[in-house]
Amino acid sequence: MEHQERLDSLLLEFDELSRHSVGYPANLDFDYTALLPFMRHMVNNVGDPFHDSNYRSNTHEIEREVIGLFADLMHLPRDLAWGYVTSGGTEGNMYGLYLGRELYPDGVVYFSQDTHYSVVKIMSVLKMRNIMIRSQDNGEIDYDDLRETLRINRDAPAVVMANIGTTMKGAVDDVNRIRGILDDLAVTRSYLHADAALSGMILPFVDDPQPYGFDAGFDSVAVSGHKMIGSPLPCGVALTRRAYVSRIARAIEYVGVLDTTLTGSRNALTPLILWYAFQQKGLDGFRHMVGGCLETAEYAVTRFDDAGVAAWRNRNSVTVVFPRPPAEVVRKWQLAPQGDIAHLVAMPHVTRGTIDAVVDDCVRAAATPQDAAGAAA
Ligand SMILES: *Cc1c(COP(=O)(O)O)cnc(C)c1O
Repeated sequence: MEHQERLDSLLLEFDELSRHSVGYPANLDFDYTALLPFMRHMVNNVGDPFHDSNYRSNTHEIEREVIGLFADLMHLPRDLAWGYVTSGGTEGNMYGLYLGRELYPDGVVYFSQDTHYSVVKIMSVLKMRNIMIRSQDNGEIDYDDLRETLRINRDAPAVVMANIGTTMKGAVDDVNRIRGILDDLAVTRSYLHADAALSGMILPFVDDPQPYGFDAGFDSVAVSGHKMIGSPLPCGVALTRRAYVSRIARAIEYVGVLDTTLTGSRNALTPLILWYAFQQKGLDGFRHMVGGCLETAEYAVTRFDDAGVAAWRNRNSVTVVFPRPPAEVVRKWQLAPQGDIAHLVAMPHVTRGTIDAVVDDCVRAAATPQDAAGAAA
């Protein structure tokens, strides 16, 4: 039973790692064991979830409900909405920008320095002209740089990728302001894709959200499923207006198929997982969960401050930014470092006790000279 031992030890390793996981925005607090019987079936959501499929062991109906739930959250009437459950945030972003390109083949893509690293790859796959815009210190796009750059390129349609929660600092770009700039410059051919990987599941549940949603000017949005909601399998949602997709679908129907998703065979379990999370928690459950995370994040800022460590966070963000601690602290807590900063993300499984332990480790390590030297190396 050597292979069983390997599985057992792998499981133990994951148990141990999840106890010290505070650096990445994945909710580890979930239980989908009720869905285990589905592991006995070959299910496949190949194709457009809003169209019939010849492969009938699918969860398209559940997937459409998931898209409906996200349409509600993103202020898009369900009958105008189209989308599908993706493999994660990256695929959702690629989908949004792909739509932008199909609508505006000569469009220029604008995104800030703090945009998720996958945008570079997406741009090279889609072969779109693109311009990186400066970020402000808090991670939000620099609106003056955006205005100036758009002004110079006014002759080209603008495909703006806005961050609704940046990866490193949890910053939210002001989409009202971005729309305002486009209007001022009379750039009428424009498309706004929102990368809402993490905060797409935060802003709908707070009292004073920054502007977000299709009523605020989104043309498409990508939200991750394994981040705030939590899932054992990476997943996400791509959501847009049905009218945009029918323009693509028509083009492809011409060559004989209706193939509106980026991938062919698609995971049929992840729509089930997302749907189940909404049934289990309900909107009130998510509101409660998100409220708890924001409190934990604020607690972390206070604890760091009390310990003399300059920590901060953006409004409505569960991401707490602080000076990069020595390497062994980064490793122990799986903190995500970038240059001279690091962050922790107050996801639902992160308790105040965890925060206390992280802060103590940071303070203790900073007080040990050889560790500080190790961090600088
Ligand atoms: C995590 C993240 C992504 C990528 O999501 P994946 O699910 O890892 O593909 C994209 N954008 C932002 C802002 C993220 O935080």
